[in-house]
Amino acid sequence: MSETAEVVIVGSGIVGSSVAYHLAEQGCTDVLVIEREAHQGKGSTGKSMGGVRAQFSTPVNIQMSRYSIDFFSRFDEVVGHPADYRAHGYLFCATNERHLEYLKTNRERQLALGVKNVELVSREDIVEFVPQLRVDDILGGTFCQTDGFVDPHSVMMGFMLNARERGVRLWLDTQVTGIEVERTAGTAKASGLAQTGRISGVMTSRGFVSTRIVVNAAGPWAAAVARLAGADLPVEPLRRQLVPTEPFDGLPQRFPMVIDMSTGFHFRREGKGILLAWNDPEETPGFKTDFDPAFVEKILTRAADRVPRLAEAEVNPRRAWAGLYEMTPDHHAIIGPAPDVAGLYYVNGFSGHGVMHSPASGRITADLILNGYSKLIDAAQLNIERFVTGKTLEETAVL
Ligand SMILES: Cc1cc2nc3c(=O)[nH]c(=O)nc-3n(C[C@H](O)[C@H](O)[C@H](O)COP(=O)(O)OP(=O)(O)OC[C@H]3O[C@@H](n4cnc5c(N)ncnc54)[C@H](O)[C@@H]3O)c2cc1C
Repeated sequence: MSETAEVVIVGSGIVGSSVAYHLAEQGCTDVLVIEREAHQGKGSTGKSMGGVRAQFSTPVNIQMSRYSIDFFSRFDEVVGHPADYRAHGYLFCATNERHLEYLKTNRERQLALGVKNVELVSREDIVEFVPQLRVDDILGGTFCQTDGFVDPHSVMMGFMLNARERGVRLWLDTQVTGIEVERTAGTAKASGLAQTGRISGVMTSRGFVSTRIVVNAAGPWAAAVARLAGADLPVEPLRRQLVPTEPFDGLPQRFPMVIDMSTGFHFRREGKGILLAWNDPEETPGFKTDFDPAFVEKILTRAADRVPRLAEAEVNPRRAWAGLYEMTPDHHAIIGPAPDVAGLYYVNGFSGHGVMHSPASGRITADLILNGYSKLIDAAQLNIERFVTGKTLEETAVL
């Protein structure tokens, strides 16, 4: 007897787990999550910095953050497992008028969308947050108290444990190797795209599973999973490297995530050390997950420039790591049905925001599958068809 499921989710990272939770929460529990690794969290979720922020520039990202941060603040109570949400804030520091204006404009938009606690801060305020910062060139910035961090592994496990308590099944160590699509006649659509088939099941290393609905939650591997159904998905992997310092007491025990807008360097406390991050513009797309030791010097140069004391911090390159961002051409997620394969749903391409937006993306995907629309946002904005119709979004606050 072959297996059947109402919904199959490919990938059990934080996003697949959130979709499973939100489906179950809305009463859909005949759900099978398929994960090729022996443990959850071996993809991007286990590599994340865990940052959550509402300080974005586009309305859709602000709305998704607003829902998600509120969710994280109630996660332990609602999901029954800890998220380790720490509201330590994000502090953006501008060193030129253009960046300062940009922060002010974003703040207006954030306030208009209900994120009421984004404050404009002066150089003097910034020194109070982190007295060790070099501020001679800082003109000001913005701070949002409810931005902060979560533990991505705990959030992923919490979503999945709760979903499983309600009957969702999880198959570990099982690869999805094919997606069966029954070909149907093409139907003309306003966008010019056509439905060419519908899902009838998935092939896996454990056998065939009959299903009408497949959710692609395969993180940086999402394009390969879409190809199994004959569909094109513009999601590319891009290496991202993080460097923790050894225990360091030259900075306060508690301070916000600090973003130096002049270089993009940002950092936060992680236990006794400091976690350093920087988006290397020379990085090129590809499945590179090895840490490049040459990155240490690049990031320490930026770190010491903004926080001179960090020049004294010790770094062991063996404790540094690399993971993959899942990038889309407009740096926004792709959420919603595939136009050419009925029953295939995307929840992919978070471009560095998949942890913080996991509550919203799971909820929106469950809404679209079960109701065809979501009250949370106008989900059409995130549909893949935007790359054909030219209605792409522009997010400039990418870290
Ligand atoms: C260094 C780094 C720092 C980051 N910092 C942040 C941050 O501060 N804040 C934030 O919000 N985001 C951050 N991100 C991004 C975030 O981690 C990702 O957007 C998020 O984890 C994506 O989750 P996911 O569940 O979609 O993907 P993943 O966690 O990669 O899960 C996908 C799963 O699919 C499985 N899979 C793939 N193909 C198949 C198949 N054929 N069959 C079965 N299983 C399959 C994989 O094994 C994997 O477990 C960071 C990422 C990196 C790399």
